[in-house]
Amino acid sequence: MERYRKAFRKKVIPQYYSGKFHVVFFSMIQLSVILIIGTKCEWKIDSLLMVLLALGYASTFTYFLHRFLLHRKLPGFGWAFKMHHWHHTFYQSHSMEYDHLDDVYMLLMPPWIQIFYFVIYLPGLVFMAEIFLPQNLILPFAFGLTLWYGIYELVHWIEHLPATHWSMKLPFMNSARQGHAIHHSKLKDVANFGIVEPSWDYIFKTKF
Ligand SMILES: [Zn+2]
Ligand SMILES: [Zn+2]
Repeated sequence: MERYRKAFRKKVIPQYYSGKFHVVFFSMIQLSVILIIGTKCEWKIDSLLMVLLALGYASTFTYFLHRFLLHRKLPGFGWAFKMHHWHHTFYQSHSMEYDHLDDVYMLLMPPWIQIFYFVIYLPGLVFMAEIFLPQNLILPFAFGLTLWYGIYELVHWIEHLPATHWSMKLPFMNSARQGHAIHHSKLKDVANFGIVEPSWDYIFKTKF
């Protein structure tokens, strides 16, 4: 396994890549946006419900994107399939943990996707939400979407920590890791596409 991973790293990770920089870059942007939006929100019961609705939307989006875009070679999205294939090739059900911080190259979304998220995707959704939602719920909607992105990366990261790590004592984390390990097995194209939570897997009977 070690020899295989060594060869994989050499083939896939660019020489200039720094896992430490990637993690710091992601966390700083994520925390800054959460704080900026969070302090501008008017926190009332309807805005909290809006955050829950945004989390529900984002969880749905994650399930369908993972199942139908990352596990199928769709025209124009071969790059996304390839990146996800790297994730599944490097991390398998019997080798879910990373060895070095640079291994997050095959775990986290690349930095350019985070930039795309905040420069194109989020403003685009907010623009559309402005048509349907009252003004006071726009920022909570953006807050919920941003929160989801952070939760997604964090939960997926924890799912790739050793089974003995203290974080497995957190509620749901142990079962989430076990479920995700099944997704990293031979069942990868049929099982457990909900990386953070399994509701859509139960609805579509892809929960194993
Ligand atoms: Zn994974
Ligand atoms: Zn997958």
